[in-house]
Amino acid sequence: MDTAGMDRGVKPGDSFYGFANGTWAKQTEIPADRSSYGMFARLSELAAQRTRALVEAAAAGQAAAGSPERKVGDAYASFMDEAAIEAKGLAPLQPELARIAALSTRRQLSALLGAGLRADVNALNTGDVSTDRLFGLWVTDDIHRPGRYAGYLLQGGLGLPDRDYYLVDSPRYVEVRGKYRAHVERMLQLAGLSEPAARAARVLALETKLAREHWDQLRTQKMDEEHPSWALADFARKAPGMDWGAYFEAAGLAGQPALVAWQPGAVTGLSRLVAAEPLEAWRDYLAFRAVARAAPVLPKAFVEESFSFNGRVLSGAQAQRERWKRGVDFATTLLGEAVGELYVQRHFPPEAKAAADAMVRHIVAAMDARIDGLAWMAPSTKAKAKEKLSTLKVGIGHAERPRDFSGLEVRRDDAYGNLERAHLFEYRQEVAQLGAPVADRVEWDMVPHLVNAMNSPHGNYILFPAAILQPPFFDPQADPAVNYGGIGSVIGHEIVHSFDDTGAQFDASGKLTNWWQPEDLARFRAAGKALAAQYSAYAPLPDARVNGELTLGENIADVAGVAIALDGWRRSLGGAPAPALEGFSGEQRFFLGFAQVWRTKYREPALRRTLLTDPHAPGEFRAATVRNQDAWYEAFGVQPGEALFLAPEQRVRVW
Ligand SMILES: [Zn+2]
Repeated sequence: MDTAGMDRGVKPGDSFYGFANGTWAKQTEIPADRSSYGMFARLSELAAQRTRALVEAAAAGQAAAGSPERKVGDAYASFMDEAAIEAKGLAPLQPELARIAALSTRRQLSALLGAGLRADVNALNTGDVSTDRLFGLWVTDDIHRPGRYAGYLLQGGLGLPDRDYYLVDSPRYVEVRGKYRAHVERMLQLAGLSEPAARAARVLALETKLAREHWDQLRTQKMDEEHPSWALADFARKAPGMDWGAYFEAAGLAGQPALVAWQPGAVTGLSRLVAAEPLEAWRDYLAFRAVARAAPVLPKAFVEESFSFNGRVLSGAQAQRERWKRGVDFATTLLGEAVGELYVQRHFPPEAKAAADAMVRHIVAAMDARIDGLAWMAPSTKAKAKEKLSTLKVGIGHAERPRDFSGLEVRRDDAYGNLERAHLFEYRQEVAQLGAPVADRVEWDMVPHLVNAMNSPHGNYILFPAAILQPPFFDPQADPAVNYGGIGSVIGHEIVHSFDDTGAQFDASGKLTNWWQPEDLARFRAAGKALAAQYSAYAPLPDARVNGELTLGENIADVAGVAIALDGWRRSLGGAPAPALEGFSGEQRFFLGFAQVWRTKYREPALRRTLLTDPHAPGEFRAATVRNQDAWYEAFGVQPGEALFLAPEQRVRVW
């Protein structure tokens, strides 16, 4: 626990976040290369430095040709060799630009779009719901008929983070659009294309039309809408415009029986525009997309122009991240699990895994007991919930069988080619799974050296990568109360995702189905409504609020996650009282540990983007969920009239 970072001048009941983190917030500057900063970022910086040492050693070493370590080293070296990248100029991208310039028919356009499809989205697990390609593919267990891998087609194609950036006419968005148009023009100019201003205007006009067809984040990320499976043969009828035969052929999907249209209205709308908009606009658009996508591995002028918009304007960062940091990310993009294995060997001993495993089991047991104790829930609903909990799979640290990269060619002198080949390799691996039986194990959608955690609502598994299971988040040597409040609440959060507003719609097998008794479901939904209203009342910017509906799943996971972590901590004491330490009771340290995990500072553009697109509320409001916990009122003597006070009947109890 960081007692020096607290502000004891703030009443816990007025702002628990301010009490736990006020001095830290006053004394902390967001690093110039970051758009936000806090506990997660601090740990991410540490993981990046450790990973740097590993990939640099791999780049300098003499690992056998073809070995994962050699590939990691060569990938990193290819990115770090700025002189070679500068010398090549635009040459690596020219074949792609030539293919785009030569487009003269709809069929060719459709084939080019199909050839560009990649497995770069994930609708439910990781929050990666956007792609700059017209569509993105996600391959995962079939939510309608679990047991086989199915393909999901998601909307994409925008250069700005969300449809609102194109369509809302507030001064801030108008300003961003103006800067975006200028950025597109400069990128096209750098790429040597004629009439860049006219082309940029056409790109923005086309993207605005694409944006109108897009579903918003709420529709995309919630299960309230239908996500129908369409036979491939029916796409031409259901979504006319695209030459789907050419598209699927080029995408290597022609033999597949069906795909799920995640946002069916958007698939129809985007397909229509393929036919309705002039080829000239599509050529300009695709040329810009290709240049923008390649920018990180192009000469410095492209890197800087890309940062000036995507960094400065969209996130508020003041300085480009150092090249080695981007190099570590590059190696991770290409060979994530291979980099992660190096990390695990060096920084994740079996004892850490065993300690984390024990903590998870404890908190799962607390959740199970909590389900038993719900006075309002019918026995049949309880039985279903307990069955689901008992089949929850837990991944800790890293995959037991990391991905095999032997089929991926990595060249030390070809950063652009490496990136292209890696994305295609990933895509083909995913497509190869379509129709195959789903193995009964967790799928590692996150790399081991990522500071994050996740839940797959339909896979019914939770993941805790190695890098989040280290101090200060998780320290088996430290005060258990703080450990349980911090990483314990994160673990509880991930468990509860299986029972949040989305997770609760999938049964133990991963099928999208209603396993609830009607009165129980009504009660669960009413609690969700109350929690959504509580969060929608938070307004961190004068013109932007937290979206209580969009963030509901995360807020349910927080409110119940902290409750089961507290239960888990109490169970771990085995009836013994917790000692007072540093002037705080065990309960107080538990809640302070929780609130300190969520310390985060944002730059304005990043906060705006978070509010619009992120299913997580900003850290300050996540910490405020303690106002729903009776134990927090007791621990800090919170009284009526204090800002966070809620009368007992207003406190939201979901599980
Ligand atoms: Zn979550």
